[in-house]
Amino acid sequence: MATGESVAKKLKRECVFERFRLNHEEMEDLKNNLKSLDGKNSALCLLKILSCNAAAGYGVLFSMAACPTERQSAELHSFISLFTRGKQVVSSYIENRDNLTTNDYSSYTSNLLSKLLAFLSDKDAAESLQVNPSYKLTEIDWTVRLAHHYFSRLSATSSYTLDNHHHAEKLFCDCGCGESIIEHYGDTSLGNGAGWHGYVDILIGNSELPVVIQGESPVSPGRRHSTDVKKNYLGSDPDQALAWTIVFSFLQKKLHPEYKNFLIPCIAASKKDICFYFYDSKHDILLESPAFPIFNPDKSLNKLTLLATWCVVNYKYLCSGITDTMMENDYKAEFFKHASARISIYRDSLSISRGFETVKRTRLEPWHMKCEVTHGKPVDEEQI
Ligand SMILES: [Zn+2]
Repeated sequence: MATGESVAKKLKRECVFERFRLNHEEMEDLKNNLKSLDGKNSALCLLKILSCNAAAGYGVLFSMAACPTERQSAELHSFISLFTRGKQVVSSYIENRDNLTTNDYSSYTSNLLSKLLAFLSDKDAAESLQVNPSYKLTEIDWTVRLAHHYFSRLSATSSYTLDNHHHAEKLFCDCGCGESIIEHYGDTSLGNGAGWHGYVDILIGNSELPVVIQGESPVSPGRRHSTDVKKNYLGSDPDQALAWTIVFSFLQKKLHPEYKNFLIPCIAASKKDICFYFYDSKHDILLESPAFPIFNPDKSLNKLTLLATWCVVNYKYLCSGITDTMMENDYKAEFFKHASARISIYRDSLSISRGFETVKRTRLEPWHMKCEVTHGKPVDEEQI
């Protein structure tokens, strides 16, 4: 990309940098939000799995995944400490190192930063996501809006794939922009038919980061966190998102053994909030963020959440992996232990976008996804 980039593109990006810098309020917000990602309200906690059906001996759809967890310790971990490269990119810009396009930034990094700044300074960005209370928004409508007007705007390639089981249901985004989404439908299958598997709602960017759309059920009583993390997750059942995260991390490790670290994220989003989950399939470490609000009380987009989402959707370039503290304390999620009977499925036999012959996906009802589990005969070890 660095060598083949057009002059026009480069100039456009420099304009974004300069325009943003001239807006003192925006610059202050960016500075404060970067600081907030190092604070307690954005902090992550480490999870330990209590049991799971990842190695049940038959295929289990993600929507039926069971993965109850508890918090590992009272300790919280800085969100931005997982993204030292992301922090460095934003800090360098804030500190006004003059020539952004030469020494300090590769053109790829500049491209990522310009996407963030353009989104942060777009005064109309929230409009496509705001919903008139009288409008009956379905889960599919919301999935499209988030993919088209939120996540893809922050990712390096702007590309995204929507689960093609909804192919006939939506041809255009319904926010009023009238834009076609037909070309974004595709096979979003992920996993292995003998273990956890299914079709994710959205895959974002060239790293195909999964986004799971969840309902708005209240937090179950007695779930995992103590009171020092305000809101912990979006729906009554985060197990699905945890299963996606674990499978996606193993898949990336298999597909990209060249990665410097295997701390891989997954996003769960509701109509109001976004949660981030991370799993390191090399060191068996599982992390959960608090819920980040999509909107401010005045209906504008929450910029702290935008910054966090930017880091996560571009994890391939900005995530630095687990911290030394996590490594030294030998925290383990214990997925390896609970899935030991079928761990080879996860280590060696996961795939993406290959479909599952045995899976029947039922039509989604608004906000409540219920899928049939593909229980069948136990899979023989030799078949795996
Ligand atoms: Zn739209």
